[in-house]
Amino acid sequence: MEEYDIIIVGGGPAGLTAAIYAGRQGEKALILEMMTGAGSGYMVPAMENYPGFVKTSGKDLLDIMKKQAEEHVPIRNMEEVKRIIPIDDDKIEVTTSKGQYITRSVIIATGSRHRRLKVPGEIEFIGRGVCYCATCDGPLYQGKEVLMIGGGNAAAQEALYLESIGCKVTIVHRRDELRAERYLQEKLKEKHIPIIWDSVVEEIMGDLVVDKVVLYNRKENTKTEVGTSGVFVAIGEEPLNEAAKNAGVKVDKEGYIIVDKFQRTNIPRIYAAGDITGGVKQWVVACSEGAVAALSAHEDLMD
Ligand code: NAP
Repeated sequence: MEEYDIIIVGGGPAGLTAAIYAGRQGEKALILEMMTGAGSGYMVPAMENYPGFVKTSGKDLLDIMKKQAEEHVPIRNMEEVKRIIPIDDDKIEVTTSKGQYITRSVIIATGSRHRRLKVPGEIEFIGRGVCYCATCDGPLYQGKEVLMIGGGNAAAQEALYLESIGCKVTIVHRRDELRAERYLQEKLKEKHIPIIWDSVVEEIMGDLVVDKVVLYNRKENTKTEVGTSGVFVAIGEEPLNEAAKNAGVKVDKEGYIIVDKFQRTNIPRIYAAGDITGGVKQWVVACSEGAVAALSAHEDLMD
């Protein structure tokens, strides 16, 4: 069985930063990534609040970070961690979809996945009109009417992206004010992106592909059918915590891993960083937590 000092679970901003630190500290480390690092960070179309970059995209920044991390630590893509079992004070067994490893410590940076609407038609039409990533799927809808469901930063940013590539986008939000930051709200106004307020999607309909949705107006208690080619969903995220929970790592009531300020979990030599710890979900925070987790692991490995 291959042996490591640190196994990093997840190849997003937190995991990649942890890898850069771990490699430079001289630890034998490995990143195990269940996909190809194309998690929620990859899907951010435009980012203007990552210091050092006036404007960039999640994909561009991740590509640079991956290159930098790979200078120090190998990344194994499409290898999902299934089980993490502490064996003794110095050994943790990690079982993946492809094999088994022994490591002295683990940094969990698994992030989160898109929350689903859970309405009829959503699952059936995934890939045929229902989308969770404007950057990935937006170009297929150029010149077409699309709906962006959600009122947070992600919905606002993705709606702006869709507008910028020529989609006719309308936001649908369940309340009468957006949660998105003021700067993004101003941009939505500037671009004249319409918003349907107080409304939720009740059903997504179509034949081979989506052609309409049923919206329910919660204030007026009315239902309307709205024609659309695409339904982009950006209604928040859920933590990817299965492997952590199975290991006995404590999570809060929303499923986010509980850590101290050094990113230590309740289990010795298991750390967590990034969106999986909940709180402020920002790239800069995820990177910072990844760095702290790697530094804490280093300190504990010296004991
Ligand atoms: P979010 O901030 O949690 O917003 C989710 C939005 O979806 C809210 O407006 C919410 O409505 C709505 N919603 C939730 N469940 C719904 C349902 N079942 N049906 C209809 N609407 C529903 O999530 P997010 O925008 O995906 O962002 C996730 C995290 O990443 C946040 O912490 C965010 O700040 C961060 N982020 C930051 C940036 C940035 O810095 N620019 C960019 C993207 C994401 P209510 O408002 O009524 O609750």
